[in-house]
Amino acid sequence: MQLARVIETSTTVAATRSRLAKVDALAEALREAAAADLPATELERLVRTTADHLAGTLPQRTVGVGYRGLRELPDPADEPSLQILEVDDLLTAMAALAGPGSAGARAAAVGELFGRATADEQRWLVGLITGELRQGASDGVLLPAVATAAGVPEALVRRAVMLAGFTGPVAAAALLHGEAALAEIRLEVGRPLRPMLAGSEPDVATALTHRRDPGTPVAVDTKLDGIRLQAHLDRDAEVPVRLFTRSLDEITDRLPEVVDAVLRLPADRAVLDGEVVALDADGRPHPFQVTGARTASSADPQALAGRTPVTTFLFDLLHLDGRDLVDEPAHVRWEALDALAPDLVVPRVVTATEAEATAFFEEVLAAGHEGVVVKDPDAPYAAGRRGAGWVKVKPRRTADLVVVGVEWGSGRRSGKLSNIHLAARRPGTDELVMVGKTFKGMTDALLEWQTERFLGLETHREGYVVHVRPEQVVEIAYDAVQTSRRYPGGIALRFARVLRYRDDKGPAEADTLDDLR
Ligand code: ATP
Repeated sequence: MQLARVIETSTTVAATRSRLAKVDALAEALREAAAADLPATELERLVRTTADHLAGTLPQRTVGVGYRGLRELPDPADEPSLQILEVDDLLTAMAALAGPGSAGARAAAVGELFGRATADEQRWLVGLITGELRQGASDGVLLPAVATAAGVPEALVRRAVMLAGFTGPVAAAALLHGEAALAEIRLEVGRPLRPMLAGSEPDVATALTHRRDPGTPVAVDTKLDGIRLQAHLDRDAEVPVRLFTRSLDEITDRLPEVVDAVLRLPADRAVLDGEVVALDADGRPHPFQVTGARTASSADPQALAGRTPVTTFLFDLLHLDGRDLVDEPAHVRWEALDALAPDLVVPRVVTATEAEATAFFEEVLAAGHEGVVVKDPDAPYAAGRRGAGWVKVKPRRTADLVVVGVEWGSGRRSGKLSNIHLAARRPGTDELVMVGKTFKGMTDALLEWQTERFLGLETHREGYVVHVRPEQVVEIAYDAVQTSRRYPGGIALRFARVLRYRDDKGPAEADTLDDLR
């Protein structure tokens, strides 16, 4: 099967608003992959790779090439010829390059792959390699497509994807081996699973209304503003502790003190969920950048500067010594976590009263933390969904928005791309609607970085405005949302400023106009 077939399907999915049509197009492509005439292992790889590519994810996770390495590409081919498995082979080879001379070899590999790609394929491959999720199908349509193509229940696909982390292997199991194989997919220690996400409410009282019964106690957790971390401990494995981010990237090597903390736990095998954060001598959190520096994402230039140690906090336990806990009610998981790691549990109170919950919220804010997460003691670990199981409450107004354009700076900032144009999603669509601009909160290093980043995403210019492909998510703080006649969504942000660029979210996860309202 050709790469062009994946791109054609992605284009069809993007072009139609009908959910059914999207699901049909994706299911058709998956069925076609599963029907290819190949030996079993190759067929497995084809279905897996096709599903991952349709999701916009790279099966290799990263191949050591960023958008910088993709700015100058060879002339495109006239006719499509690249096969999906061939692309997969080339990317695997690229990912394996390391050591002296690898930069040149990598550039040569990029030249080889892109020289064989048509202009459409080049554009699409850049998106895939740099992890721009916008071109990928969302779970909302891809998972039903896997279920349809394989003739299996969607709930089973959803659960398998949560436990396996990625869609590719689940699609291969479902399409090639059917329902029984799907049901056999379990949590595996060492393989990241999708993290549980939180819903959001403006205050504690409203967060408490999610309880089925007002007398039920809830846990009120401190919401730390650090980095989400999933830790896997397996003393028999070659690498006994492995650490993964919210987007399932492995960052074990960057956080040795966290590895040590996990190694000290009295267990042989465990999967833990938590947050790490850099604290000052008084135990107050450093600004997010200090923690962010430790995982040094490419989108964070300040990142490289500091190496302040981080403290490990845990809030969930998903597996312990042979026992999976994901389906257990939260209170069972918490009890097991308290017994395993009493010193590492995130500060939390369990209470049935609003007064006590609110008092704790105030205390947490006074200690410099971001807010609280109110948790239902009966909820299972429902990965990948924003539900009533976890509800976050934070007073600072922030939003994750997509950069759609940038203006050239003047004066001290001339020659730099400065004022960024911010857009939110129109609910239920992929449409992006501008809600404001900002040039505040940017350090010199950040300006430097964003100038290069946005030139790499440039589509065209209009006067001093550089329009860009809407692919970079930025976290913005603002004071208020006001009505606006100038902006097409009817609202504008007041006093918007940049908190950080986010690598762990794609534009499909950006906030909507409704979230802002
Ligand atoms: P945000 O930008 O508000 O951190 P998000 O979109 O990254 O949100 P959500 O699922 O909405 O993720 O919010 C939960 C996030 O809060 C988790 O991903 C985690 O990083 C962080 N967090 C901090 N403390 C806790 C806690 N005690 N329990 C759960 N999540 C926590």
